[in-house]
Amino acid sequence: MFFQPIKKNIKSMAVQPNLTDYTTIRAEFSWEAVRRELSGLPGGQGLNIAYEAVDRHAEGPGQNRIAIRFLGKDGGVSDLSYGDLRDRSNRFANLLRSLKVDKGDRVFWLAGRIPDLYPIFFGTLKNLNVFCPLFAAFGPEPVQQRLERGNARILVTNRKQYTKKIAPLLNRLPELRYILLVDSTEDINEQVLSLPRLMAEAADMFTIPPTDPEDMAILHFTSGTTGLPKGAVHVHNAVQTHFITGRYVLDLHQDDIYWCTADPGWVTGTSYGIIAPLLHGVISIVDEADFEPERWYRILQEQKVTVWYTAPTAIRMLMRVPEELPGKFDLSSLRLVHSVGEPLNPEAVLWGQKVLGLLIHDNWWQTETGGIMIANYAALEVRPGSMGLPLPGIEAAILTHLDAESVRVEESDVEGELALRRGWPSMFRAYLHDEERYQKCFAGEWYLTGDLARRDADGYYWFIGRADDIIKTAGHMVGPFEVESCLMEHPAVAEAGVIGKPESTIGELVKAFVVLKAGYKATDELSHELIGFGRGRLGSAVAPKEIDFVDNLPKTRSGKIMRRLLKARELNLPVGDTSTLEGSTTS
Ligand code: AMP
Repeated sequence: MFFQPIKKNIKSMAVQPNLTDYTTIRAEFSWEAVRRELSGLPGGQGLNIAYEAVDRHAEGPGQNRIAIRFLGKDGGVSDLSYGDLRDRSNRFANLLRSLKVDKGDRVFWLAGRIPDLYPIFFGTLKNLNVFCPLFAAFGPEPVQQRLERGNARILVTNRKQYTKKIAPLLNRLPELRYILLVDSTEDINEQVLSLPRLMAEAADMFTIPPTDPEDMAILHFTSGTTGLPKGAVHVHNAVQTHFITGRYVLDLHQDDIYWCTADPGWVTGTSYGIIAPLLHGVISIVDEADFEPERWYRILQEQKVTVWYTAPTAIRMLMRVPEELPGKFDLSSLRLVHSVGEPLNPEAVLWGQKVLGLLIHDNWWQTETGGIMIANYAALEVRPGSMGLPLPGIEAAILTHLDAESVRVEESDVEGELALRRGWPSMFRAYLHDEERYQKCFAGEWYLTGDLARRDADGYYWFIGRADDIIKTAGHMVGPFEVESCLMEHPAVAEAGVIGKPESTIGELVKAFVVLKAGYKATDELSHELIGFGRGRLGSAVAPKEIDFVDNLPKTRSGKIMRRLLKARELNLPVGDTSTLEGSTTS
């Protein structure tokens, strides 16, 4: 179904958007000019994200302004000013220095959304260490793989996570020097220390060392179709993208009260849950609790949120509750709603208009891009179902790959791979320890996103799907290979093939097709057991939710599982080209 473009009336907007004339801003844009708008470290000592987001405000009139307003699960509210955040992050930087954590060493975070996250994030960057967040709902396997592959030197976590996921695998993590517990007032042993004790003992003055904009700052793990998770390396220079997207896409103004609902375990949670709002000196709301419709509407009302950045799964869950619920709340402070992470259905955009009185602005980016690349803007027309237009400073294109050559598609409305011209400041600089895989992401000047899309005649981009088998479930990326490998560790499983099965709320659910070993029976009990087994090892965010027992899996002649075929069969779709299918007669 085609949905008409929706025009905006800028004059009627109470706050004038930062970007109104897209064409001119795009034509005149330069990254050098953005860099000049940032402060840089005093004395021309380089560029550090922590200085731009925190110290710059804390050393000026913004010192006492609220940076983070933290809403506890229990209803408590605590504020952290820019000055507090500077002092506490200084303490953490000193603490790292006293533990002899060297430049570039990785500091991992596995403690969810709690107030300690913010000083620890910025303290890590101040000491020129690398922050690497882990999703708290990961099971022990994904946690161990990432700690090992990321050469974790320090892990900040809580007692529960430590006991359940870390203590049993410490012998597999020889590089991990210290574990800092956020909720222990006493050290457990020489390696497992109390964070509150160390923080209390550390000094709150710290001078950020000279920082090369290309120094590594953040490491984000993301899943691939095959093999181990990939560690996307981001550098301090990424702050330019955070800054400019905060201005042009999120449309932040200094009086805004901004709420990003993303979990800090994922890239949106750091780029837009921590960095971008503070760069613009706004108040950033952080809610400790999980999604709950009434609680969310109450937060919008009570905190007088003006700009809200959320995700399609959450929006679809809100769409399920009766409209009387939002009707009970005063949402008049809200002026802008953004969404990212999965396709946003046109119906959701229109639901926003009807129920919240505001269109929902979809935008597109990935862990690898470090920041928003394609977006719908406050002042511009929205085409429901479209991801919008490239950010000024970003050149996007649709490519087709012909005989190993990547060719730019000039016509509109032709499906191909979405690509970005390489070289924007927040582009990932490496996959840690995997240069080969990194190089495969590029074709000449183009970074290949792995997404299929088309561009319409006016330059708006429309998402079609992934070019590979990666699954997006409730906004989280899941590599089918990780799930298959885990299931195969179960004694009953001979082989497994995993796909994303379309689901109306969470986008896709993880579904496994399992071939049993001889002697095992395909029963409901075994299916439940396998789901439980997956949850125990991988965590609920990654584990399969549905299992089908099959006699065999479709494979290519070289032995690769044809997940595309499993998916087509599951959905009763045409199976497409099966010439490489094992046993097929076509050569
Ligand atoms: P991640 O690296 O986990 O942030 O996931 C990035 C992937 O999520 C993209 O490559 C897309 O497949 C998907 N994605 C992100 N934003 C959108 C969007 N607005 N519309 C459709 N898919 C999206």
